[in-house]
Amino acid sequence: MILDAHCDAPSQMLRLRDYALDNDHAQVDFPKMRRGGVDASFFALYIPASLKGNDATAYARKLLSVLKAQLAASSDEAALATSAAEVLKNKEEGRLSVLVGMENASAIQEDFSLLEEFYKEGVRYVTLTHSADNQVGDSCTGSGLWGGLSPFGKKLVREMDSMGMLVDLAHASEDTMRDVLDISVRPVLDTHCCCKALCKHRRNISDELLRGIAEGGGVVGMSIYPLFLSDSFATIYKASGLSSESWIEDEFIADPSDPERRLSWYGLLDRLSALKRPGVDVVADHVMHAIEVAGEDHVGFGTDYDGIEFTASGMETIADFHVLLDELKARGMGEKSLKKLSWENFLRLL
Ligand SMILES: [Zn+2]
Repeated sequence: MILDAHCDAPSQMLRLRDYALDNDHAQVDFPKMRRGGVDASFFALYIPASLKGNDATAYARKLLSVLKAQLAASSDEAALATSAAEVLKNKEEGRLSVLVGMENASAIQEDFSLLEEFYKEGVRYVTLTHSADNQVGDSCTGSGLWGGLSPFGKKLVREMDSMGMLVDLAHASEDTMRDVLDISVRPVLDTHCCCKALCKHRRNISDELLRGIAEGGGVVGMSIYPLFLSDSFATIYKASGLSSESWIEDEFIADPSDPERRLSWYGLLDRLSALKRPGVDVVADHVMHAIEVAGEDHVGFGTDYDGIEFTASGMETIADFHVLLDELKARGMGEKSLKKLSWENFLRLL
């Protein structure tokens, strides 16, 4: 069994992708999960940092409703899971498990009844921030508004602890992470990142915080995003000038039913994929480093598929997951350790 702690499927559903089909230019859909042996994945309700207040909440509800509609249409193939027991039951019945996370607590506003609403709907982790500081705390790519968690953020972490909603530190600033580790009495997650010791990207996690999460019993999910994997790839990407073409994706998002906009987006994806990207060996370097620092009980996989415009070379879609497992086996990782990374560590937290 494999559990992926983070992908952005609901955003792609809003862009009219049908997960029952084996889609062109897609990183995740149900057939690809089957081929990759990925039995369970957290589908994130990603709320852009530009949305605030009621707009953020409405957007999260919209993502949840498209996700539930697709699950209802594929009920023989995939089902919602809200606990470890449900993941195991779905597996036994031959169905894929879709777990739900929320990426950006902006949709919670400052209202615990919204936290409860999303918990009841099946959400089991909340990523506190996205790319900007919000009402909860500072983002690693924000301006340091609060110096860590906001006063409301501290209350929110205690409330999440008491209801059993997991706190996800991905995208948070290091001060926010330290505040959460001080306050939280339960294990926490960082669902999708790589190691700062190997690549300086601001989204990556330092050894100090890796240890902090592990000491609290938490788990860190390793991503396959080239910009998190390698500083030298960041130089290649910058030199390509392709970041200036992100408007092509914006146009596609604005009207995903327009076939021309879709084809332009596919064209950009092809140009991005043609860049010389780090391979699965570099992903394995990050995984091995995280294990060295945090221990094998505290590391898993959180690819960020469907939320990233390109992937590690050789792992273009979720169907390629075995390539990473083979690389880890080739480095001497035994079955017992692989099982922990692949699903046991995350199921323990659930
Ligand atoms: Zn993210």
